Amino acid sequence: MIESLILKPARWEDRVLLYSLRISAFTNRKEHKMHPMKLFDLNGRVVIVTGGNGGIGRSLALGCATAGASVAIVGRNEEKNQQVLAELKETGSPAMAARVDLSQRDQHGPAMQDIERQMGPVDVLINNAGIVSLSGGILQESAEDWDNVIETQLNAVFLFSKLAARSMAERKTGKIINIGSMYSYFGSAVAPSYSAAKGAIVQLTKSMAIELAPYNVQVNAVAPGWFVTDMTAPVRSPELKEMNDEILARTPAGRWGQTDELIGTAIFLASQASDFVTGATIPVDGGYSIR
Ligand code: NDP
Repeated sequence: MIESLILKPARWEDRVLLYSLRISAFTNRKEHKMHPMKLFDLNGRVVIVTGGNGGIGRSLALGCATAGASVAIVGRNEEKNQQVLAELKETGSPAMAARVDLSQRDQHGPAMQDIERQMGPVDVLINNAGIVSLSGGILQESAEDWDNVIETQLNAVFLFSKLAARSMAERKTGKIINIGSMYSYFGSAVAPSYSAAKGAIVQLTKSMAIELAPYNVQVNAVAPGWFVTDMTAPVRSPELKEMNDEILARTPAGRWGQTDELIGTAIFLASQASDFVTGATIPVDGGYSIR
């Protein structure tokens, strides 16, 4: 078939096909004239980062703002919110901080409305906020701890995404980025609720990706390995030295990640560069998950 097209198509259907292939090759060539770095430009995009007042969220918020986005961070702690807001403003991009406790469902709707009123319709939602209960396993973990982790790490992602997706679907454009974990792949005898929530994030990501693809909304996840933040501070304490040694031995890169090392992947997933990427979970882990 292909050979007959390349040579000299006899049938008129093949000639039409060949002609449209040439047209599309020409059109694609024109598209590729855009400078590749422009694909990562976030100018004019409104980005929400939940848990943007510290750790990984702070790096992602600052990274997106530096790439030109207007950034709204969402967090409970007002002092931390204001600190990061000041840093965001230094980038020169519009920014705001919303004091929201994502475990309180009645705060979601008003928060989204407030952000969209101040910043404009949301283009990118980064569901990053999270807590962990290092309970030591299901025999120790209380039902209350379980509920708190699931509410923040999973239910809030579903509910906040639902609000953002409505707005994105109406405008036929949008990106949702969920933060998974190595525990999206592996079980944990120490933090079962965390592992359950992070495993579910991968499936929720795929489900949303399928549903929202017709609306030109891409949904992906990032699975960070071990990163230096407040959340993981206990793992670097002398009490958990054995666990820390195990992490370092298992990570081919032989070290912990720094939160800024997640910015590149987040900007890729937030930008035009990833318009044909959806439902994926990208590990950023120094190789931890490959063995
Ligand atoms: P941090 O503890 O440093 O930050 C957690 C963030 O979530 C804070 O900004 C916190 O804000 C916010 N947050 C927590 N609960 C709520 C809530 N109910 N409502 C609003 N905001 C909330 O953790 P990391 O930066 O390490 O973690 C960020 C994400 O990355 C989490 O989802 C975590 O599970 C995930 N992750 C982290 C890894 C790591 O190695 N650090 C590895 C894999 C995944 P506030 O203080 O105001 O409550």
